[in-house]
Amino acid sequence: MRCPCQSGEAYASCCARYITTVGAAEPTFPPTAAALMRSRFSAFAVGDAGYLLHTWHPSTRPASLELDPDQQWYLLEILGTSAGGVFDAQGVVSFRAHYRSAANRKLKDSLIETSSFVRLGKQWLYVEALELH
Ligand SMILES: [Zn+2]
Repeated sequence: MRCPCQSGEAYASCCARYITTVGAAEPTFPPTAAALMRSRFSAFAVGDAGYLLHTWHPSTRPASLELDPDQQWYLLEILGTSAGGVFDAQGVVSFRAHYRSAANRKLKDSLIETSSFVRLGKQWLYVEALELH
């Protein structure tokens, strides 16, 4: 299976490394804010709410998260990044995420968001949407 984040890699060698080890004794963390963003998109695509909560900053994290099973996230475009590198403590990623209805695959839409991220130790965390379009 190709990774939902459109990296061109197999899912197993891309975002699954992060998604399947979160909360484990020796987790693998995405090295950059953009990599975390991609892995969160993949978690949406595979319906892993636990990963989304684990990678959400405690100050903005919801108590629980229900994913809409009809919403199929199928395409991610990274539009721009600012900081968010391996030596940064915070970063911003702009992206466009495309989704379609599972019941009617012709029903498609997308959202454009600019999100902020912070790094705590080795772990990048999603903080909030700065801009929604
Ligand atoms: Zn990926």
